Amino acid sequence: MVHIPSASRTFSRTLAIGPQGSDMAGKPSIVVVGGSYVGNAAVEEITALVHKTHNVILVEKNSHFRHLFAFPRIHAVIGFEPKAFVPYTRPGSSSAASFFAAVNGPSSSANEAVEGYEPLPSDSIKIVNDIVTSISSDAVALGDGNKSLPFDFLVLATGTGPKGPRGLLGQDKKHGVEISRLHQENVKKAKRIVIVGGGAYGIQLATDLKTHGPTQSKHVTIVHSRPRLLNRFHEGLHDISADKCKELGIDVILGKRVVVPQDGFPPKTADEPFEIEFVGGGSVHGDLVIQCTGGVPLSSPLKDLAPSAINEYGYIRVKPTLQIDTSISNIFALGDVADTGAHKAARPGRAQAAIVAQNIDKLIRVGLVRWDSQTGRKSWLNTNLMVQVFTSVWVW
Ligand SMILES: Cc1cc2nc3c(=O)[nH]c(=O)nc-3n(C[C@H](O)[C@H](O)[C@H](O)COP(=O)(O)OP(=O)(O)OC[C@H]3O[C@@H](n4cnc5c(N)ncnc54)[C@H](O)[C@@H]3O)c2cc1C
Repeated sequence: MVHIPSASRTFSRTLAIGPQGSDMAGKPSIVVVGGSYVGNAAVEEITALVHKTHNVILVEKNSHFRHLFAFPRIHAVIGFEPKAFVPYTRPGSSSAASFFAAVNGPSSSANEAVEGYEPLPSDSIKIVNDIVTSISSDAVALGDGNKSLPFDFLVLATGTGPKGPRGLLGQDKKHGVEISRLHQENVKKAKRIVIVGGGAYGIQLATDLKTHGPTQSKHVTIVHSRPRLLNRFHEGLHDISADKCKELGIDVILGKRVVVPQDGFPPKTADEPFEIEFVGGGSVHGDLVIQCTGGVPLSSPLKDLAPSAINEYGYIRVKPTLQIDTSISNIFALGDVADTGAHKAARPGRAQAAIVAQNIDKLIRVGLVRWDSQTGRKSWLNTNLMVQVFTSVWVW
């Protein structure tokens, strides 16, 4: 059984995208939700392949791209935190062309044109700075649900974030920089810092604190619940990072799970050190606790339309084609939010973006979705064709 998008919309107002005179509103849309490493890669790959027939619209709740790889360091080292927040658009411009200026062919990040690919028209990509709160079969609802964006194809790259409603809060650069400075202030005041989690974030933060400037004198402890640091990576990395921690004077406590208070640890440095308790007994002394245990998958907008596509941990189940694992054929998920079995990292996400783009291109080219430029109407082909398409769609 293949899902055919229904004509009915559950959302009240459809958002018109694009500056006056652009053909943005005229072509059918491919909406990508989430403008971080993987969503951006999807936008680049998809636009390069289908910009002649489709608009590509990126919906991102933050005003700026957040360069997460730099976050541990901006919490430890003062002065370059604004650089970790990159604007999606130039001031005064509603076009995403400046951010995606380098896009001129599949997998291209160079500025010069790639042979065989034409540079993209500047209005091929639009960015909507808003939050997708729910999804119907052919539109996403934005914010409080009063606005919506129709789509022919939807690509979810919503990644991970804080639990609960905070996970769906957008952020601007000012707020992001303020939070980084608050972290720096706390770290400056602290004498004994306890980092919970010995994954990539925790190790990077601890080693940055002990390597750079005024924080080098702090006492830093990492508490990790597993027997090895960086346990999701090659086991040799444990030895390398444990040696580095020893060299820098970082205490490492393995195989202990910290008891996290109901409302989390205080976000500020305590006036007096306190005991951070472990499950099953034991504790460590500290005046600032920094949790580096990762976020939860931000899949909730999909839960009403496709509850069965969300697994027990909140990740989106996908087929090998990266279509969500239901009969719905025009919604894809990739990157950290998707249960692909791949390592949760930006790099494999980029490869997934290329697969999604090729599969969407293939579905469009074989005419799964037909768009009539005269009438502005789209029509869907029969399910037999879809079955043929899916058997030949590229699988990674
Ligand atoms: C310190 C650190 C270092 C790292 N180093 C590396 C590295 O060297 N190499 C590597 O490959 N990986 C690295 N990673 C992992 C990498 O950052 C993640 O795997 C990657 O960010 C996942 O990308 P994503 O686009 O799937 O999701 P995310 O980066 O989580 O982004 C999701 C985006 O979706 C937006 N969003 C979510 N929900 C909505 C909504 N409802 N509406 C609108 N927008 C929404 C969010 O605002 C966000 O911008 C590192 C991670 C950290 C924390």
